[in-house]
Amino acid sequence: MKTMTCRQLGGACDLQLSGNTADEVINAQDKHLKEAVAAGDATHEVARNEMKGRWKHPIKGMGWYKDTKRQFAELPED
Ligand SMILES: [Zn+2]
Repeated sequence: MKTMTCRQLGGACDLQLSGNTADEVINAQDKHLKEAVAAGDATHEVARNEMKGRWKHPIKGMGWYKDTKRQFAELPED
């Protein structure tokens, strides 16, 4: 397992998200952003919209995705 924070993933807090792959962590972040915004947390709205935009425009979102995967790969195992 490796851990990244919400902030490292473009979010607004230091919540830690763990996963065995970068995709797991990204999905956890996606869920966290949805829940935060649904709960009325305005600080996560920008990140939520950016995340939504990435799914809609996969080519444009690919740079972020690659960066995140690389960051994840460079992390030490927990
Ligand atoms: Zn957060």
